[in-house]
Amino acid sequence: MIHVEAIPILRDNYAWAIHDGRRAALVDPGEAAPILAWLDRRGISLAGILVTHHHHDHVGGIRELLARASVPVFGPTRGAAPAHEVADGDNIVLPGLDLVVTAMATPGHTLDHVCYHGFGHLFCGDTLFSCGCGRLFEGTPADMHASLTRLAGLPGATLMHCAHEYTLANIVFALEVEPDNADLQRRHAEALSARKLGRPTLPVDLATERVTNPFLRCNVDTVVNAASNHAGYPVNAGVDTFTVVRAWKDEA
Ligand code: ZN
Ligand code: FE
Repeated sequence: MIHVEAIPILRDNYAWAIHDGRRAALVDPGEAAPILAWLDRRGISLAGILVTHHHHDHVGGIRELLARASVPVFGPTRGAAPAHEVADGDNIVLPGLDLVVTAMATPGHTLDHVCYHGFGHLFCGDTLFSCGCGRLFEGTPADMHASLTRLAGLPGATLMHCAHEYTLANIVFALEVEPDNADLQRRHAEALSARKLGRPTLPVDLATERVTNPFLRCNVDTVVNAASNHAGYPVNAGVDTFTVVRAWKDEA
């Protein structure tokens, strides 16, 4: 039986542990101490590491984890640690877990960003957040829009695991774009009660994201119209709407 659990690290990051109760692969271990404590508490051994991109809050704990256990690291090689480089479409066998995940190149937040999907789960790092998406540090709006469109095409039941707990702040902005979206209002209520209980708002299924996340809805009339109103000129559906909404959120 495979479990996927969030380990809160740093200020608002999650490292995701994929484990069977004995061995765990860690996604984006940006800080070692909370992860080592979690492993010790559970009596679980570290079996491997997956990295989505080179930012410090995603790779900062790798060196210390490797000092404890010499395990394979998969991800972009720009990270601090020696990684087996992955390319779009690569299948990665998670060591000791008998699981395969497929790498998906998703440039936009950074040029080296990779997401991993498999066994009904998606690990999307800083590309896709619940009701939001990553900032464009390196890629173009067209890069990010293409990456998000690919992710949104995965099956609706896919459980999305993001690298940050940004959901509530994202929903506040999403409601500016689509104040009358009933699915979004429902998600807001759910997310508020989860956070009040100190629980993650994640994972969330992709079907929910497709009806609530404005960045996955750049072809929907309400979002295109909101973008046009904000811009003050008629904006085309698709990447143009994405570009306006991303810039709008950066101002917000
Ligand atoms: Zn990042
Ligand atoms: Fe990050």
